[in-house]
Amino acid sequence: MKNKLIVANWKANPESIREAKEIFSPIKRAAAKLNQVEVVICPPAVWLAELVKGARNWNGGVALGSLKATPPFRVRLSFGGQDAFWELIGAYTGQLGPTMIRNAGATYLIIGHSETRALGDTDNLIKAKVRLALKHGLKVILCVGEKARDEHGKYLQILRGQIESALTGVPRTQAKQIILAYEPIWAIGAQAKGADTPAAFLEQSIFLRKVLTGIIGREMALDCSILYGGSVDADNAAGFLDEGGANGLLVGRVSLSPESFIKILKIANSI
Ligand code: PEP
Repeated sequence: MKNKLIVANWKANPESIREAKEIFSPIKRAAAKLNQVEVVICPPAVWLAELVKGARNWNGGVALGSLKATPPFRVRLSFGGQDAFWELIGAYTGQLGPTMIRNAGATYLIIGHSETRALGDTDNLIKAKVRLALKHGLKVILCVGEKARDEHGKYLQILRGQIESALTGVPRTQAKQIILAYEPIWAIGAQAKGADTPAAFLEQSIFLRKVLTGIIGREMALDCSILYGGSVDADNAAGFLDEGGANGLLVGRVSLSPESFIKILKIANSI
């Protein structure tokens, strides 16, 4: 069975590398004692290389940031970017290409987060970003989610559209690099109504896997990790992983509190 994937999305936090290390150090120590969990830290890109340096000699001494750093040994701690541009290099002021993120030590890349969608990421841009990141060896955490859940199930077509638009045509050889994160927008952030329920997540994930089956085939779809994200904390994590059957969690606010995040890691390790 695959390790549970617990992803920390730090968003635009914290303000300094000193604070970033203060959050990271206890998480690194805790991750060393776990063997059923892969922890993925997604800090702001400017802190990535320095944190990766602090994590060297971890994953069997093999350099992070490369798909070569996967089995024979179990990777327990990895890094991810929170977004990347749809070109590698060039005259694009302010942008970061996916190979820059990868070469700074990331193995994963979040794409299509509702906050980047709200800032102008369109389905077409997301598709271009996914293609480029997969082509260059990153594992893509594709975020999908609806703004509101209607009782007639129309929101399911929104989810279907987001997945089909991002993934249709992805080469089969790259499909194993895809991770799906289901993050209902109404459940994300400080102003959220609260988390979804594990039972509802289970239903959505069955639907999402069906959609994936239509795009990447049954075998790959069954193998694809589907994470839950949206107001995850130490009180509800077990429910999503156990009753909800989530293959992992995408954690926002709570991932900035090492104490709470480590509680989630320990729960995931025990399920
Ligand atoms: C997120 O932004 O991906 C997220 C899940 O945030 P939070 O956990 O703070 O709701």
